[in-house]
Amino acid sequence: MLSNLLKPRQVHRSIYDINLKSLWDKGYRYIIIDVDNTLTAWNNYNISQRLLDWILLAKKTGFGICLLSNSSQSKIQEFASKLGVISSPAGGKPFKRAFSNALDLLQANEENTLVIGDQIFTDILGGNRAGLYTILVDPIDKKEFFWTKINRLLERIIAGRKTSCK
Ligand SMILES: [Mg+2]
Repeated sequence: MLSNLLKPRQVHRSIYDINLKSLWDKGYRYIIIDVDNTLTAWNNYNISQRLLDWILLAKKTGFGICLLSNSSQSKIQEFASKLGVISSPAGGKPFKRAFSNALDLLQANEENTLVIGDQIFTDILGGNRAGLYTILVDPIDKKEFFWTKINRLLERIIAGRKTSCK
């Protein structure tokens, strides 16, 4: 059912609230992660120390990380190399191909990979359709692309999404 495909397995206020160690202990080894409004404010590719520390923590835990974004790929690849992770060159969420490309790059599979993102209709729908474990985070800020706003309106109407709270 569509409504099941729109449901994340976990919901958090931010990436910093995700318990990486517990996911590692459950057998997850790879992370496919969105960029805009998940790792950084929309279209702001400055890297905060907090973000860098989170990436280092994830890598130290053992996770392999691949960025998967529908934004300008040259910006995303530059961002990835500054963070010391890889990025999938194609984008194309929510299509399954986008996620299978990222899995191939990581040499990962459906059983051991997490998808983290802030949008139900790209990150969560796509991740669920690809058979991955999906984690929704609240968007970092509200300045965003017009179509993303339309998507969010649909998310509220269709999925009854509520902003998670403390
Ligand atoms: Mg996003």
